[in-house]
Amino acid sequence: MMLIRAALLDAPEQGRLRFVEDGALLLEGARIQDAGRAEDLLPRHAGIEVHDLRPLWVLPGLIDLHTHLPQLEAVAQDGLTLLDWLETHIFPTEARFADPVHAKEVARAFFRGCLREGTTTVVAYGSSHPEAAELAFREAETAGLRAVLGPALMDRNAPVALLRSADRALFELESLGNAWHGRHGRLELAVAPRFAPSCTPTLMRGAAAVAARFDAVIETHLAETPAEIAWVENLFPEAPHYTGVYEAMGLLGPRTLLGHGIHLSAEERDVLRASGASIVHCPRSNAFLQSGTMPLRRWLEEGLPVGLGTDVAAGPSLSMFEEMGFACQAAKLRGEPIGVATALHLATLGGARALGWEARLGTLDAGKEADFILVDPALADPLGRESSEPQTVLSHLLYRARPGLVRGAYVQGVRCL
Ligand SMILES: [Zn+2]
Repeated sequence: MMLIRAALLDAPEQGRLRFVEDGALLLEGARIQDAGRAEDLLPRHAGIEVHDLRPLWVLPGLIDLHTHLPQLEAVAQDGLTLLDWLETHIFPTEARFADPVHAKEVARAFFRGCLREGTTTVVAYGSSHPEAAELAFREAETAGLRAVLGPALMDRNAPVALLRSADRALFELESLGNAWHGRHGRLELAVAPRFAPSCTPTLMRGAAAVAARFDAVIETHLAETPAEIAWVENLFPEAPHYTGVYEAMGLLGPRTLLGHGIHLSAEERDVLRASGASIVHCPRSNAFLQSGTMPLRRWLEEGLPVGLGTDVAAGPSLSMFEEMGFACQAAKLRGEPIGVATALHLATLGGARALGWEARLGTLDAGKEADFILVDPALADPLGRESSEPQTVLSHLLYRARPGLVRGAYVQGVRCL
């Protein structure tokens, strides 16, 4: 057991921060056993070793719900929109993952990068290569963070080097799940049909069946750009809309994460709400590829579950702090601001909810698993000062994120940064 003493900041609801200036967390094994004011906890747990981390602040570990591991080296390739960018920059980059030495090197940098940015849970697409997927799990295991990983499934409309037959891809996916799903309580299989244009109905239905067998997270892309939507309408003329394709394939459920969801009709939003699936908002990626600006506030007001993702390589980095800041800015450009507290909520408890883990993660409450980060607010302050004003500090963290801001990261009570 260990007591950590520091300022505690989390966002248990949209628009509301919870702050304890002189706070304490009691860690026992992988869990937070007690949390609150230091003056209450210290006498209650007298004799337990105290780690005084002041003036650092403790925040819940950040949850990146959508990013692409093999694309890390291809960030910031400017000038194209989604479909041309995929052909020109992304597919060749992912094809390099046929080389296990390269795949391992990138995976190692990727997971370390996540932790450095304060991400303690990452949901990531891999390339389509089974060996690279295995290596990614091994590197995540070593790095110590929580990871939900799966190869990007594609059996059409991509370069031959990245395609696998539906049978083969599903067999490999199942083997990967048998080996890794649930390991250490922090590694899980993601079932990741890339997007409808690159998957046959056979592959998508089979993927849904594998996901059901493992109760696995399903991740895919939805309604990112008008050209993509037109392509889907051509490929699936019988479907009422893009969302309807995934619904017909059995891919929509409470553990489904849909990247983007920018251009959605009211009818599609009704289908999504009924299914319990979540939208993953990736605003930096959306700006970069000129995909559009998702009506975040409206989707939230309508009750759609939303989390945030960095979407590397269309997003320029693995920084969820920058993603939160950009989400605030993008919402303001629409004239529909959300505020920094809501941004933090989406990157923590919102992400946990999308994964079905709201009872385990996302806030600093007693009973939750001890996934949290340490940040140094003075580093983001323009004059390097300390502050006890949570709204100001969080604004600085989001709008002035910089390397070194995150000073530590714990997953299941174990320090991994
Ligand atoms: Zn993506």
